[in-house]
Amino acid sequence: MTTMADQEWRTKAACRNEDAELFFPERTSPYAYALPRSICSRCTVRTECLESALKQPQTNDSTGMFGGFTPDERRQIRRCRAGTCQHDHHRGQP
Ligand code: SF4
Ligand SMILES: [Zn+2]
Repeated sequence: MTTMADQEWRTKAACRNEDAELFFPERTSPYAYALPRSICSRCTVRTECLESALKQPQTNDSTGMFGGFTPDERRQIRRCRAGTCQHDHHRGQP
């Protein structure tokens, strides 16, 4: 269930007054995300923003920058959390 409180963080979004298209670049070039990424980097609610996007993979995995992460990066985060990535952090602590 989505409550008002769940959405309150959006009022603090650093991108509130930015052009929304900036955060949904058509090109898949990593450079297309450079400017929105810099805005996200100074956003105080980027954790909330990322978690919100991660909860909706169907709508949010194909496009858009959320929480400072590109679609590819969010897919990777999901794989890490699911333990299906190829990183060392799932092979036991040293
Ligand atoms: S993290 Fe980025 S996309 Fe998310 S609310 Fe902040 S500025 Fe907007
Ligand atoms: Zn991983």
